[in-house]
Amino acid sequence: MTALLETKGLTARYGDFQALFGVDLRLDAGETVAIIGANGAGKTTLMRSIAGVLANGPGEVLFDGQPIGALPAAQVMARGIAMVPEGRKLFPSLSVEENLLMGAYGRKVEGPWRLDTVYDLFPVLKERRNNPGTALSGGQQQMVAIGRALMSNPRVLLCDEISLGLAPVVIRDIYAAFPQIRAAGASIVIVEQDIGQALKVADRVSCMMEGRVTLTGRPAELSREDIHAAYFGVH
Ligand code: ATP
Repeated sequence: MTALLETKGLTARYGDFQALFGVDLRLDAGETVAIIGANGAGKTTLMRSIAGVLANGPGEVLFDGQPIGALPAAQVMARGIAMVPEGRKLFPSLSVEENLLMGAYGRKVEGPWRLDTVYDLFPVLKERRNNPGTALSGGQQQMVAIGRALMSNPRVLLCDEISLGLAPVVIRDIYAAFPQIRAAGASIVIVEQDIGQALKVADRVSCMMEGRVTLTGRPAELSREDIHAAYFGVH
């Protein structure tokens, strides 16, 4: 079966510094894959390379079997891959609603996600819709970032560290939306430093270390020891 999204031998560099060394990742339709790994492992670089934000080195990114590795970010998004970036990156001068509408700007397709359905998913955003996006709490801002990505009705949603800096109860509220996002048809890649959260939400987990995937498996198949070794490189 053709993967929905696949990287094959993907490499990336920042100037002389090589950040990815031949990364193979596979996401099938309907799946949620989590990428775990310590700070600096290359998780964000992988997301940015897939999204076309960062130019790739040698290696392939295939979406529905088609090479997309050379496409700029806007075209990757137009094909149906949306990113929730690390740090949310809301438009500071825009309201919540305007931030959400920006998400639909680059991809005009019919789908389950519109302003009203995003507001159903995160009702607090409807109450705050005229507030500046950046005036919201961290968790609410993260909801805006997720909602903005959903507004393009993506086939693949890339989520980079959505729980970073948020309180456990807020993280729980945000992840509570994921079953609905999946049910509406998106396949999901999450980058998550919280291993427990990753194991809970994902069908498969890949661990990265120093620019390489060191372990891949279904949560039930992975022992604590394997994850520890893949994460830190030690037993
Ligand atoms: P984090 O959890 O800190 O976001 P990460 O696993 O997402 O970590 P990346 O941000 O992808 O890791 O970083 C991978 C490597 O690339 C790190 O060594 C980092 O220092 C380096 N790096 C990231 N961005 C740049 C940049 N703009 N210029 C130079 N080096 C960079």
